[in-house]
Amino acid sequence: MESALTARDRVGVQDFVLLENYNSEATFIENLRRRFRENLIYTYIGSVLVSVNPYKELEIYSKQQMERYRGVSFYEISPHIYAISDNTYRAMRTERRDQCILISGESGAGKTEASKKILLYFAVTCPTNDHMVTLGDRLLQSNPVLEAFGNAKTLRNDNSSRFGKYMDIQFDFKGATMGGHILNYLLEKSRVVHQNHGERNFHIFYQLLDGGDDDLLNTLNLERNPHSYRYLVKGSCARVSSISDKNNWRVVRKALDVIGFTAEEVQKLLNIIASVLHLGNTLFGEGEEGETYIITETQLSNLLGVDGSALKEALTHKKLTAKGEEMISPLNFEQAVSARDALAKAVYGRTFNWLVEKINQSLALKEEIYHSSKDASVIGLLDIYGFEVLQHNSFEQFCINYCNEKLQQLFIELTLRSEQEEYETEGIAWETVQYFDNKIICDLIEEKHKGIISILDEECLRPGETCDISFLEKLEDTVGGHPHFITHKLANGKTRRVMSREEFRLLHYAGEVNYNVNGFLDKNNDLLNRNLKEVMCQSENQILSHCFRREEVIDQKRPEMAASQFKNSLMKLMEILMSKEPSYVRCIKPNDAKQPGRFDEVLVRHQVKYLGLMENLRVRRAGFAYRRRFEAFLQRYKPLCPETWPNWNGKLADGVSALVNHLGYKPEEYKLGRSKIFIRFPKTLFATEDALEA
Ligand code: ATP
Ligand code: MG
Repeated sequence: MESALTARDRVGVQDFVLLENYNSEATFIENLRRRFRENLIYTYIGSVLVSVNPYKELEIYSKQQMERYRGVSFYEISPHIYAISDNTYRAMRTERRDQCILISGESGAGKTEASKKILLYFAVTCPTNDHMVTLGDRLLQSNPVLEAFGNAKTLRNDNSSRFGKYMDIQFDFKGATMGGHILNYLLEKSRVVHQNHGERNFHIFYQLLDGGDDDLLNTLNLERNPHSYRYLVKGSCARVSSISDKNNWRVVRKALDVIGFTAEEVQKLLNIIASVLHLGNTLFGEGEEGETYIITETQLSNLLGVDGSALKEALTHKKLTAKGEEMISPLNFEQAVSARDALAKAVYGRTFNWLVEKINQSLALKEEIYHSSKDASVIGLLDIYGFEVLQHNSFEQFCINYCNEKLQQLFIELTLRSEQEEYETEGIAWETVQYFDNKIICDLIEEKHKGIISILDEECLRPGETCDISFLEKLEDTVGGHPHFITHKLANGKTRRVMSREEFRLLHYAGEVNYNVNGFLDKNNDLLNRNLKEVMCQSENQILSHCFRREEVIDQKRPEMAASQFKNSLMKLMEILMSKEPSYVRCIKPNDAKQPGRFDEVLVRHQVKYLGLMENLRVRRAGFAYRRRFEAFLQRYKPLCPETWPNWNGKLADGVSALVNHLGYKPEEYKLGRSKIFIRFPKTLFATEDALEA
């Protein structure tokens, strides 16, 4: 008994549900800290896995470890990402129900690493069909490719995902992987042309320059030094000690082959990457009449596969249609610079979508399997950008944080609902727990006609002089009274933190964020001049002609704006997730310095708070802290009772009754459901565990 307690003191409890003082945040954090100190980065809240980023390699991800977790019940073994993976897989197999694993946490908390470990677990442990042996490889190799093109070094994370990703892994009736599909969400395109101090552009640019051989760079007309490219030096940190661009280049290059990109496709892809760099180096001069011309000579048009003079013209002029007639008007210097940047963003963003499409083709179910796959099931994996609060927050942070609100909403609905459902199906009375429902914030952002996104769209479409500030004023008029919205004017100097006149503040579930409205309208409009589109859709580079469609030029209808598009894609995502049985991984970042061994209590407490972990725990404990299926309970504790040892041959519920009677459980301490025993206090179970050890 003594030694068991000491061990518990040292390493804490592996399930927060077992904490005696479960209402105390301090106890919760102390438990996390103790475990973190012992390199025990995983802890459960019931079936939710809490993970603290160790910022160092731990020896816990080997193949042997995977074997340890295979087919083993959740509570029998220490918490692990593999346990969640295995449990999800088994639930899918036995219950024949689609599953999903939702990974959340702020930037740098370890979401992408967690998702990769889950994917690896499936790739290694699941059976494979003979003709699908390479599928696992392709699934795994999609990661380095998407990371190269969609991740970047930020102040918060050296490998920050700048796009959202939802991946379906499809399994056949034997449980073998048979296909995959990726949905990508809102890539942060603005990074292509601008990076904040201390941040980089997307990895692929640096990888290509550092790793590409001389011949390749020659054909792309590139110099090896990243400092030669304006789009790569905005953040003044082209080189990062923790990142080997050269090695990563090799990994990516090989991954492209494994996924099935042809040499020609790779060449075309790299032409595009190089052309973005050349675009960034395209400079303009201003003539005496205010007209703009290009003063730099590069291989830009060759690499883009377009006509050189048409491109020059399109970068410096705008085509307008007035009263059915086409007119060409010159762009001034600023307009030309922004047309150039808009082209770079469009080219990169659309190429990224093309990449995802190609990967999906490679992971797609083959026709013949598709028809025999009626019994197929799916495990979805969501790894999406975490909640973000920067010094300067813009349209991108607004979208990212909105997305996190939606996920929190889903978490609230599903954890509470599933808990409630479990009591219902087991026939046990339910006690409610108070929690903050962030629906009010989701509504503020997304409601039709009166939400922030609607107002933004309206302002983009409104004829006449609109600007970012007029958008802000419109917000003040429309949502000014909302308890989660404030601006400088509305606050009347009463806010704790100073706000500028260009900002609005949202009181997110995770904390306050000030958004600067500068650039909101442009980013939401996401416009590319029509003549640039015309040039691009004639490109000889098939990737580009695939990405820029003729119909888009002919069709004068206004495409959906960026925020609305994002909102609609999130709605679809919520539907997908709601149709599946969820499991959660909640990632926590222990410090801002990306260092091992440092546990910054203030930082952790903040995350525990906004991830709603305390509420999660309370919900879990409200009724019964612990539950176990009859057979698992009997199996584990049957040695403690002569009636059940060595085997119980009667009904399971009767066996459990006999066992708990023998152990002296009081009626208020437990309840028997239809298939599970529910235990109210952890100490009851502790005592039983101790009896087993004695
Ligand atoms: P973002 O929202 O910015 O994409 P993220 O939550 O996806 O952030 P990751 O990229 O997964 O964060 O993790 C950041 C870094 O932390 C990793 O590059 C790695 O160095 C380290 N890390 C995360 N999880 C682990 C782990 N389980 N073991 C070792 N190191 C880890
Ligand atoms: Mg990530």
